Amino acid sequence: MSYVDEVIAEVIAKNPDEPEFHQAVREVLESIRPVIEANEAQFRRDALLERLVNPERQIKFRVPWIDDNGDVHVNTGYRVQFNSAIGPYKGGLRLHPSVNIGIIKFLGFEQIFKNSLTGLPIGGGKGGSDFDPKGKSDREVMRFCQSFMTELCKYIGADTDVPAGDIGTGGREIGYMFGQYKKIRGLFEGVLTGKGLTYGGSLARTEATGYGLLYITDEMLRCHGESMKDKTVVVSGAGNVAIYAIQKAQQLGAKVVTCSDSTGWVYDPDGIDVAALKEIKEVKRARLTEYKNYRPNSEYHEGRGVWQIKCDVALPCATQNELHLEDAKQLVANGCKAVCEGANMPTTEDATKFLQDSGVWFIPGKASNAGGVATSALEMSQNSERLSWSFEEVDAQLKKIMENVYHNIDNAAKKYGFEGNYVVGANIAGFEKVLEAMNAQGIV
Ligand code: NDP
Repeated sequence: MSYVDEVIAEVIAKNPDEPEFHQAVREVLESIRPVIEANEAQFRRDALLERLVNPERQIKFRVPWIDDNGDVHVNTGYRVQFNSAIGPYKGGLRLHPSVNIGIIKFLGFEQIFKNSLTGLPIGGGKGGSDFDPKGKSDREVMRFCQSFMTELCKYIGADTDVPAGDIGTGGREIGYMFGQYKKIRGLFEGVLTGKGLTYGGSLARTEATGYGLLYITDEMLRCHGESMKDKTVVVSGAGNVAIYAIQKAQQLGAKVVTCSDSTGWVYDPDGIDVAALKEIKEVKRARLTEYKNYRPNSEYHEGRGVWQIKCDVALPCATQNELHLEDAKQLVANGCKAVCEGANMPTTEDATKFLQDSGVWFIPGKASNAGGVATSALEMSQNSERLSWSFEEVDAQLKKIMENVYHNIDNAAKKYGFEGNYVVGANIAGFEKVLEAMNAQGIV
């Protein structure tokens, strides 16, 4: 059995009931196979892949909190510090009932390569809890965040591990967590990113993942003689990534006709009204059923269905494994040219393969959504030098980073004979830097 196959089998055997983690490991290891097989004996002797797929540290803890009626609830908190070869652990905190150790490990593993692709000195980590902020009062969310940070603060710091937002963790949650960290540790430092602008946050961090997704998509289209201008775009999700992806797509001259949340989806043939979407999701924290009140010509449908709408470009921005094989077939039948992932691993393995085999330009999330973490790293830089950069300055750096990510993954794919395969390109380009750093630092 080849070394890659051996390690994949071992990951599955040693981490049962973690299908998303298996999926992420399989995708990366399959892609870097040519690099490994070129030097297999050496990698095997150094147990390089075993060290890559086993997190440096996994922290799991109890999070007790008290609701508004005085009843006590207990959730589980996680932080997986996956790989610090190229910098302090960096990656978001997900608050969603579906969170378990396998989900956090898949996200942490992906984060290693994503962070490497940004070209910035950040290692890979991820965390979160099975707490559901939906339907909770502000005070309940605050008490949860304080309890979560009371334990987490023992393991993080501006130079060791710097968490950020993710699904369910936005500016409100980061604020409560930062306040608790400061109270316990007595340190005002850049320990979290995605902070509010009045206490060390970076301009353009809120917009960064969505904007970055569009910068890389536009760059890819330009390299193929096209652009976002006049494209019809289908987006899933209605959270942080989706909202700012829609906004930037519109600024680049495209028309975005859908968005979705976990209960239903909206089709607006005149183009999504971003101001209305922001009010519903960011201010009222309400469901998408409300969208029709703002835009009577739009349609609301229960369940999932955005991928059946005809488009040139599809941007999955909600969650993992939300774009299935049947959806991919529908997109191809409708003439879709490009799928770029805003979410982490939103496209299933068979759907990805089908899209690539059908000639659709496909950029995986670890490259196309790297703008969020890249801007988080810019927030860390600003915190370290105790300065705040202008929106334009951060945005310009973000754009440059995303264009570089595109060229890096494109070049890596070409170098190994997989031209146009951005999955292989992203995994190899991300891996090579981590590999070099791991080798330089010895067996640790
Ligand atoms: P948000 O919580 O702001 O929004 C998530 C959106 O996806 C919501 O519309 C939510 O609907 C929907 N959603 C969540 N879970 C499900 C589900 N199981 N089924 C269907 N819809 C679902 O999160 P973000 O926008 O921050 O994150 C979206 C994705 O992007 C995630 O994969 C995240 O890991 C990734 N990402 C985020 C970055 C960031 O900077 N925020 C950076 C890089 C990647 P509802 O409101 O009904 O729950």
